[in-house]
Amino acid sequence: MVQRGHQARQAPGSKARRPRPPAIQVREVTKTYELGQIKVRALRRVSLQIDRGDFVAIMGSSGSGKSTLMNILGCLDIPSSGRYLIDGVDVRSLDEDDLSDLRNRKIGFVFQSFNLVARTSAIANVELPLAYAGVDRATLSGGQQQRVAVARAIVTNPTLILADEPTGNLDSHSTEDVLRIFAHLNEEGRTVVLITHEPDVAEQAKRVISLSDGEVVEDRRIAGVHDAPPVLHHLKSAHHPVDSTVAQAQAQS
Ligand code: ADP
Ligand code: MG
Repeated sequence: MVQRGHQARQAPGSKARRPRPPAIQVREVTKTYELGQIKVRALRRVSLQIDRGDFVAIMGSSGSGKSTLMNILGCLDIPSSGRYLIDGVDVRSLDEDDLSDLRNRKIGFVFQSFNLVARTSAIANVELPLAYAGVDRATLSGGQQQRVAVARAIVTNPTLILADEPTGNLDSHSTEDVLRIFAHLNEEGRTVVLITHEPDVAEQAKRVISLSDGEVVEDRRIAGVHDAPPVLHHLKSAHHPVDSTVAQAQAQS
């Protein structure tokens, strides 16, 4: 496993002396896809800011621009216009090497389909054999696969976790398990942005931002940035089946 710089090893919640910029600043971001003559305006002048340690759900129906926004937040794609700053750094000022370095150091991705995790080099570089669980991937349930996906996403100790419909294919029990992991990662000081079209899932975050036709139509706070995530209140008595998976993954990193 590649050793990262000491920065990546710092606890994500550790306090710096200087006031630090917000984790995420999106300013008037537009994303237009061009399909021949047709222009698809996937994001229309979206502006939002996300503080370190927040746990944000991004809601919206299919086609509302959630994944487009997530790709921009994850530096997997760039805006057509407008600016995106991550930890105060404008991504326009970074070349491809800097961007991939930033993705590797700071961002953990979790996608809906376990197999899609391999689509980013950030994750592809993290060779975490399923063998540590002693099982073949084919024998894992959806919930187990998603736990492994989360474990893989956090081996580099990222400060920002981006999850696109991570509970999309899961039953309610597995959904709770996965939400609980995100809540724990958030309690440790990581910023979590979770995309979902399920209202029940969104309510477990501290803040809910809704998109419709590429625009922010709602931005609602449920709990304070430094409060415990709601899911931990609701699920207090529940067990933590995933922590050992996560711990094993981190031990191997
Ligand atoms: P969501 O994740 O909310 O379902 P998306 O961000 O995937 O929405 O898509 C927003 C809009 O942009 C949709 O109309 C979609 O068809 C379009 N779109 C997304 N990706 C592309 C692409 N690579 N090329 C062309 N159109 C796209
Ligand atoms: Mg999507």
